[in-house]
Amino acid sequence: MADRSTLTAWAVARFVVVYLVGSSLLLVLGVDTLWMAVLLAGAVGGITVWWSLRGAVRALDAAASGRPSRRLPGDLDRIARGIEDRIGELERRSQEAEQSLALLEEVLARFPHGVVVVDRDEQVIYMNPVAVTLAGGESAHLSGLTPHRLQTLIRQVVSEGAPRTEDVEQVSPQAVLSVSAIPAGRHVVAVVTDVTEQRRVEQMRRDFVADASHELKTPLASITASLEALRIALNRRPDRVEEFVSRVEAGVGQLARIVEDLLDLSRLESSHLEMTRVDLARLVGEEAARFASKAEAAGIELVVELNPAEVDGSPRDLALAIRNLCDNAIRYTDSGGKVVLRVYSDADRAVVEVADNGIGIPRRALSRVFERFYRVDSARSRATGGTGLGLAIVKHVVQRHGGTVTVESELGAGSTFRVSLPRNQTPSGN
Ligand code: ADP
Repeated sequence: MADRSTLTAWAVARFVVVYLVGSSLLLVLGVDTLWMAVLLAGAVGGITVWWSLRGAVRALDAAASGRPSRRLPGDLDRIARGIEDRIGELERRSQEAEQSLALLEEVLARFPHGVVVVDRDEQVIYMNPVAVTLAGGESAHLSGLTPHRLQTLIRQVVSEGAPRTEDVEQVSPQAVLSVSAIPAGRHVVAVVTDVTEQRRVEQMRRDFVADASHELKTPLASITASLEALRIALNRRPDRVEEFVSRVEAGVGQLARIVEDLLDLSRLESSHLEMTRVDLARLVGEEAARFASKAEAAGIELVVELNPAEVDGSPRDLALAIRNLCDNAIRYTDSGGKVVLRVYSDADRAVVEVADNGIGIPRRALSRVFERFYRVDSARSRATGGTGLGLAIVKHVVQRHGGTVTVESELGAGSTFRVSLPRNQTPSGN
């Protein structure tokens, strides 16, 4: 309002000045009719005022449309500049808002979790690409999202106005999704994460703890029973004391082996792989020498065929894997049998083979022997000091070295375990 009155005052002042100057001029020039003077001066003043107002309106127009305006006198110029500044500010803000929106969309598009925004009328306002994949495709309505439990969870959050988090199962493709839905004004924002692998690993860990506890309980029960028998034997059957002491020793030995294997597994899972250049032929030769007396005692011929082969790796871990394979070959081969340790290499890979002509592995069990605590014949395994963890350790070591381990076996004819390692590689990190 103040701006408009300034404009009017300025125009009227201009009119009055032009009117007075005009009429004076006409009088000086000798136009003696007063009316003529008044009319002429009025016309000139009117045109001047119209011209001025037109100029001012154009200048304000130019300012409003963001074009640089021509200079105007006094207050008008200030008003025009003010409008220009305000418009410039608004344009800047609108650009900033657009940039923020584009950034937000880009971040959500790359966000590794699904984000779904649903309003109270169950219209889907937004789904990022991960949400489209996890929730069964793009949908404009809540009822189009899968699994069905996701819909009911969002409806619950709408009606209760309180956040909820839950695991829901997707049938096709099979997956476990963790959904966290939170109310946000008239909307509900749901964050959907594929936790299939995470839940599988958690389940595996739970199973492992249960299996390990069970494995530890077996020798513990045997030790407890043997100690009880030993106490009785000390008083009544001194001739059997030796026997029960041996049983206690066997139980303790079994317990120690399980704990040792568990610690090895834990170390392999958590520690960093320290790489050095390893002479595989020498390493296998040394391990074979350690088993010479055990093989001889079992009546098994131990043959070593060593060709030059070097790899980058951890000598300690590789020795552990070779020891487990060699130990198995001897334990699962009957007296009179043969175990061959072979090392060779080609351009890319170094190979260690441990072959025996022992009891062999049934076909159905071949894919499972590398699982923790899996045994084909539990009685023979335990009787020969097995823990059920030997091949799991081998697999872990080989994978950490970027290699593969395979087995070929025929029941009653023997088995060949083949470890293939890259000759040059970078560590896997865990
Ligand atoms: P274990 O301590 O019981 O030997 P491993 O993990 O070393 O556990 O092996 C898993 C199972 O695979 C064994 O219980 C055994 O049934 C089978 N197995 C492993 N090596 C051989 C082999 N050389 N010959 C026959 N069976 C084997």
